[in-house]
Amino acid sequence: MIRSFLGPIEIFFSEKRDGDMGEMTVRESFFSKNGITAQKQLILEHGVRVLSSVTRAETWNADAVLFSSESLLECGMIWMTVADCVPVVMWNPSSNMGALVHAGWKSAWKKIHLKTLEQLCPDPNDRADLQVWIGPSIQDCCHKRTANDRMIQDPAWKYAVRYEKGMPFLSLQNGITKALVERKVRSENIQSHGSCTCHLDSRFFSHRRFSTVDQDLRGRMICGVRTDA
Ligand SMILES: [Zn+2]
Repeated sequence: MIRSFLGPIEIFFSEKRDGDMGEMTVRESFFSKNGITAQKQLILEHGVRVLSSVTRAETWNADAVLFSSESLLECGMIWMTVADCVPVVMWNPSSNMGALVHAGWKSAWKKIHLKTLEQLCPDPNDRADLQVWIGPSIQDCCHKRTANDRMIQDPAWKYAVRYEKGMPFLSLQNGITKALVERKVRSENIQSHGSCTCHLDSRFFSHRRFSTVDQDLRGRMICGVRTDA
């Protein structure tokens, strides 16, 4: 398991060796091994619904959620499952608010990272201390797109594309980073884990690798946030 911190927010990202987090029994043993006694799940919609505050519901249908350190402490872990999609965590120390964001290519194209940023920290002049973590996800080494793909022709994403033998490869991570930096998030405050989930020798599960060649990579990882403070 990978653990990172953004201020008081602890980020958990499971690896293949932790098991398939799509399975409830595997997940429950992962929670108990890591002392997670309460938790809330984001049921992903691959859209752009941002929950602006946490609710009492058992699960939330959304691709992003905003939380305060107090509300996160009350919820326990807030988590989602991923396998190639880009998990993003934001933390704004000046307001003590953060966000967990699922940026699959569809949601990223629809700018869920920017929609979340605008709700988390509406005034661009307040973003100097905002911190961002971008987790393991499919990188442009493996993220091949088709030549007539509309996303890679979108001016907002063109710069995140590289070509190899005429085929486009997209870096969602670079696209997200550039869009955030253009909106006054400091590049030195953005940490990207950099691991590709789709590489054949990967320590991660990969939706793309599974659906193309390697059935051993069937499964999902958890990306979750929690706090003690
Ligand atoms: Zn790769």
